[in-house]
Amino acid sequence: MTTRSAARLARRSRIAAAVAALATAVTVAGPSAPASAALPKVANTWASLMHRSLTPTPAYVALRQRLATQRGTLATRAAQITTLTAAHTTAQNTLTTAIAADAAARTRYALAREDLATARNTLAVVQQQRPVKATAVATAKTTVTSTARTTATLRTRAGQTAATLKSAQATATTATTSLDSTVTAWQNLNTAIATNQQRLIALDTEAAALATQATALSRDVVNQVRGSFTTADSTTVYGIRVNKTIAYAFQQMLDDAKADGVPLSGGGFRTRESQIELRKINGCPDIYTAPASSCRVPTAIPGRSLHELGLAIDITSGGRTLTSGSAGFKWLSANAARYGFQNLPSEAWHWSISGA
Ligand SMILES: [Zn+2]
Repeated sequence: MTTRSAARLARRSRIAAAVAALATAVTVAGPSAPASAALPKVANTWASLMHRSLTPTPAYVALRQRLATQRGTLATRAAQITTLTAAHTTAQNTLTTAIAADAAARTRYALAREDLATARNTLAVVQQQRPVKATAVATAKTTVTSTARTTATLRTRAGQTAATLKSAQATATTATTSLDSTVTAWQNLNTAIATNQQRLIALDTEAAALATQATALSRDVVNQVRGSFTTADSTTVYGIRVNKTIAYAFQQMLDDAKADGVPLSGGGFRTRESQIELRKINGCPDIYTAPASSCRVPTAIPGRSLHELGLAIDITSGGRTLTSGSAGFKWLSANAARYGFQNLPSEAWHWSISGA
């Protein structure tokens, strides 16, 4: 193999690798790539605004995760406070009991010492009496001995209650410190959570503002798309053919609805011929002039339907067309605006970027 042919082979394999990478990128990006050279500029702007609105930034994702962690820690702290409050109450009760026991023991010891002093005094008196009364001296000595024994016992008890009191004071102090520091930690965390919630709300508000900007362009999008649309400007989202402009937002909407327990599907793009067929099927008085409302099922005049541009979807849920009382309609009423979709008031199932 010559050097030149080896270089050519290497270049060819590099190109092949690049093509493969490109194919992968396109597959992965799918409808998430909002821009398309074929779409009118305003349509690309709409898609770009919605893409920015609906794609969480790494900072947003991190903030949500931090909040979830903080809420978990807050719950742990609250449980700790419950436990520590109980321990604190127990420690206080133990301390109260120990204080009373110590006071009582000291009183008994003090009284015993008085008794001992009295007994010794009595002994001294009877020993000085003349003639000596041996029986009285013996009795007084016995009293001194027994009182001294009692006093020694009560001194030991007082020492024990003092030690118990000291230990109870230490336990109570520790319990108070632990409770205080945990309450402080809970308060600080609660403040941090409130701050992060405000940050999250601010980011959500920014995202909503982008969706509002997109919605303000929706009539222009419809008009521009009408002038240039070909089926090459459409793609499928979960089997539903829609305009590439709305594909990303539409997919996000279906994903989020499903996550909320509201599976949505439907029919998006239809050709002019299909629209004409639908006018016949739905019993419109004529094909091209009678208003949509004059048909058995409201059906736009061919050329006016946003379905022909892939910018409207007739939504179903569980295989049934949405009605105004359905869970799907309620979910969309609450959420669709975030994804740039509006309802045509006369048709609960019909959702489009301009509400037409
Ligand atoms: Zn429709």
